[in-house]
Formats: sequence, structure tokens, C-alpha cells
Amino acid sequence: MHLIDTHFHLDLYPKPEALVLEIEALKIYTIAVTNTPSVFDFTYQVTKNLKYVRAAIGLHPELALQRKSELPLFKEHLGKTRFVGEIGLDYGNLNDLEKRQQRNIFESILDSCATSKDKILTVHSRGTASDVISTIGNNFPGKIILHWFSGSIRELEQAVEFGFYFSINSAMASSVKGKRLILNIPSDKLLTETDGPFIEVERKPALPSDVVLTLEKLATMRDISIDSQRSIIFNNFKSLLE
Ligand SMILES: [Zn+2]
Repeated sequence: MHLIDTHFHLDLYPKPEALVLEIEALKIYTIAVTNTPSVFDFTYQVTKNLKYVRAAIGLHPELALQRKSELPLFKEHLGKTRFVGEIGLDYGNLNDLEKRQQRNIFESILDSCATSKDKILTVHSRGTASDVISTIGNNFPGKIILHWFSGSIRELEQAVEFGFYFSINSAMASSVKGKRLILNIPSDKLLTETDGPFIEVERKPALPSDVVLTLEKLATMRDISIDSQRSIIFNNFKSLLE
């Protein structure tokens, strides 16, 4: 049964061309997210002939305002891939006007994705869960993965009601709050991710093979065997692709 990493920043590693071949050889299904449309093409080129690794086109919320001129490029590349990310909302220290501009960019991205109906989006929602969930809404024509979700239980319940998936990484599965959230996610909506290199394992940037650690933590938390957890995540990934 294959491992699954639905949120991995391949292009931020020193030797992505070599690394991607290792991931492919390990047969780990990996969604290689990108943070701006101008860097998508690199990841697309190094993954386009592979079976297990796919490039996602993204515009990270923390870069959205300064790179909004790349929105047309986002739309141009969108037809090349079914996968979209990293996108989302993150207000940081923005003022109200800037927050609204960031939401407009996110809405524009969602609109473009909605037209093709089969896109799979990996979405960042730090500090913005309720805005992210309400902006996407209940009837989005595509699949939504909330990556490293850190909202409230109430927000989580809303996202569950809307049918969203949740990708869990080792940091989330180790924190008290993260564990409480995880136990409220239906088993058929759980996925695994690394968010490498933003998450480290033993002081090294996480690699897709490190999702094993998250599987172990999930299995312990949910009191099932690692093999069962692994097959649940694999089946969830298959239904994500349907
Ligand atoms: Zn990320």
C-alpha cells in the first residue's frame, strides 16, 4: 500500500530533480505544491512524466498581494494540472483593505478552479478558517483539502459538513490542539502530508517517506493498527481522485 503526501514543497529543496526520482522510486503519491505561478513550470517539467508525483499550481496567501500580477499566469497554467496549491488565506499583520484584497485573489482562484469541476485544492487557513470555509462554501465543484488545519472544533465541524478533507502532518499530530481536532475528523476524510521543508523531522526538512511517522501517530491516537490506518489513508486518497 502506497504512502500519501498531499502537501510537499518539492521546489524548496536543494536538489529537486534528484529528490523527485527518489520519491517516484518509493512509489509515494505526492502532491508537489508551489507558492507562485512563476515557479510552477519548473515543478511541472520535473514531474510531468512521473506516475506518483504531481505538480500543483499555487499562489500562497502570504505572497498573494505582492504577486497578484501573476494571477493571469495562474490561469494560464491551470489547464496543465488537476492539482491546485498552495492557496488560501493568511492575514498576518494586514489591514482591512489588504485582507479584502487577499480574499478577492482567493475568490478569483476559486472561480477559475470551479469552471473545470474536477480540481483538487490544498488550502492554507492559518488564523482564517472561518473565512476560508465560508469563501469556498458548501457546493464547490471540486475537492478541498484543508492542509494543517488549526481552526476551532466548530469551524472543523462546518468543514466536515461541507465534505472537505484534512491533511495531517507530524506537527499537527503531536500537538494537544491538533490531536483534539484530529479525533473530530471522520476517518474517511483523513489524509497525510509532510509540508516539508516547513516541517522538520530530526532536524532535517521532512521528506514524503516521513508520513510514516504521522501514520503511526494517527494509528495510536485512533487505537487501530498502522496497517489499517495506512489502508484507510490510501483509500481516502483514491476517493479524492475519483
Ligand atoms: Zn505548505
